Amino acid sequence: MPIHAVQLNVRPVRAFSDNYIWLIESPKSPSQVVAVDPGDAAPVIAELTRRNLKLAAILLTHHHPDHIGGVPGLLRLGQVPVIAPDDERIPYKTRAVRNGERCELPDLGLGFETLEVPGHTVSHIAFWGHGALFCGDTLFSAGCGRMFEGNPKQMNASLNRLRELPPETQVYCGHEYTAANLRFALTVEPKNAEALEYQSRVDRIRAAGDPTLPSTLSLETQVNPFLRCDIGSVRSAAESHAGKNLAEPYEVFAALRSWKDQFR
Ligand SMILES: [Zn+2]
Repeated sequence: MPIHAVQLNVRPVRAFSDNYIWLIESPKSPSQVVAVDPGDAAPVIAELTRRNLKLAAILLTHHHPDHIGGVPGLLRLGQVPVIAPDDERIPYKTRAVRNGERCELPDLGLGFETLEVPGHTVSHIAFWGHGALFCGDTLFSAGCGRMFEGNPKQMNASLNRLRELPPETQVYCGHEYTAANLRFALTVEPKNAEALEYQSRVDRIRAAGDPTLPSTLSLETQVNPFLRCDIGSVRSAAESHAGKNLAEPYEVFAALRSWKDQFR
């Protein structure tokens, strides 16, 4: 069966102030779920109990505590596969995956490709399959993660790699940062019509208390300045903010990222 044949059922579990832990329903056995980046066990356990679901596997994108902190608590419910990047800072993993490796969970009818996307951290990975992308803190809606460990060239290449996935790909990010990211995106591109329209939609969604995610890659390529480093308007905004010419897209990316780091 082609990998896109199964449309995923994914529900968010909120954790901390703005994290999302994603629960992917097994297409084969809908009472079983896979948790992505469970930074906290309690809200996941509450959701499993409320909906009478069973945890069947855990996927981890990177080592930050708000993405892995709930793993030991969840494993107390029973041992399940824990698939994670090859990084010694991630305990409890049962399998480390590298770039291009497949994570098959045949009993659940699920399979994902591993994409190495260094930048936010050096060992950050994303999981792609069934038309969905679980990208942790690499790509956010209308923004991207901070570069804690990588460099601009790396992070720009990681984002370009994600940008090449099919445009209809559903993007499941690790945080609800969309509204704040859009304020920055519209500072970079004040006349971006899609971003303006997205902002009013996001305002309505947030006013109702709902998640703005998943996004889609096609929307992100229209509104997310970090995926638009090769677009003239983004480049000239970055150049005038940096006060110098930026010859390469990764230099545009670096200028945008440090601009955003200062942006309030
Ligand atoms: Zn992180």
